[in-house]
Amino acid sequence: MQVPPFSLDKQLSEIGQELETAVLRVLHSGQYIGGKEVKAFENSFASFVGTNYAVGCNSGTDALILALRSLDIGLGDEVITSSFTFFATAEAISNVGAKPVLVDIDPNSFLIDLNLIENAITKSTKAILPVHMFGQSVDMENLMRLADHYGLKVIEDCAQAVGATWKDKSVGSWGHLGCFSFFPTKNLGAVGDAGVVTTNDENLAQRVRQLSVHGMPERYLHTELGYNSRLDAIQAAILNVKLPRLLEWVQDRENIALRYKESLQKLPGLELPEGPNSLTSKHAWNQFVIKVCNFSGGGSQHEFQVNERQKIESPSESCRDLLKKKLEDVGVRTIIYYPIPIHLQPAYKKLGYNFGSLPVTEKISNQVLSLPIYPEISEAEQDYVVDSIKKTFE
Ligand SMILES: *Cc1c(COP(=O)(O)O)cnc(C)c1O
Repeated sequence: MQVPPFSLDKQLSEIGQELETAVLRVLHSGQYIGGKEVKAFENSFASFVGTNYAVGCNSGTDALILALRSLDIGLGDEVITSSFTFFATAEAISNVGAKPVLVDIDPNSFLIDLNLIENAITKSTKAILPVHMFGQSVDMENLMRLADHYGLKVIEDCAQAVGATWKDKSVGSWGHLGCFSFFPTKNLGAVGDAGVVTTNDENLAQRVRQLSVHGMPERYLHTELGYNSRLDAIQAAILNVKLPRLLEWVQDRENIALRYKESLQKLPGLELPEGPNSLTSKHAWNQFVIKVCNFSGGGSQHEFQVNERQKIESPSESCRDLLKKKLEDVGVRTIIYYPIPIHLQPAYKKLGYNFGSLPVTEKISNQVLSLPIYPEISEAEQDYVVDSIKKTFE
């Protein structure tokens, strides 16, 4: 059996017809930039998240850039975020001219460690940028309290967490701005690049919109340098078909996650994701991430090891990498999100971090493995993933 890490084509058998109709509708409308579909999506997405405004843009990365720029964050400013995230989070901060200040994570939730944020605040800090990794929300109540106390702005990176909540409030509605990605493998995927910024603040919404159209508040009047970053009408039409199904898909993901948790219990050296502690918070399960801490496959015992040079030049042969390889050999494809933390990326040498700067992130980067999780995975496929993992532990 072959089990892919995600399966975008399977969704087509369910809603392909509707998607085709939607795309053709745009094609024949002659309105390719802006228009009805975009407006409709922005309205329904804002009400889904529970904010007053949602402004479409070209990608999740652009959403972050537009959000940062809307707060006038730039040269000389610092933004606190996690080192355990997709590169775009830090890249967006750097690309507006500001400096990412990278903080370590909690080893169980993979989320920024709130206890370490206060220490990272300086006179130059303008904002905190929490990342809701793998679909799990950061404790937004305490994070907002901390940010308010220091007069800092909060931009949420919700790229992996559409459908997640903290205490019954959607991610993207807690901070001053929320940034979402509709990259095809996210929980709500377009058929190309797409993103959106959410906010309750009318001025910020207007500023984001203006920045996304060349800094142009009215036609051919440019009050600042902006970008060309809009949500395509075709992508909006696709998203309009998919959004009403999102919660159902997130529920499917949760069921799959629970099945993994039940069937993979008690394997020595393997740790399963905890999920949110609070009963009222909701994990969106974009990824099901296990930690491979110890692995005795193939007769010999492999202890967890990290080696600085190997880590940067080639991923080290950790227990995780061995398990990944063994699963691949039997047709189960897993993915490592992410093997190299931001602070050890060659592009960020200039920030001055070393190996050892953020020990939890470094250790976790060597242990994480994402198992296939998507609404369309069959029970037989999931059983095969579970059995294949169990076999490697025999
Ligand atoms: C995917 C992702 C992004 C970037 O989104 P794009 O739409 O690909 O630009 C940003 N942050 C995180 C955490 C992501 O997972």
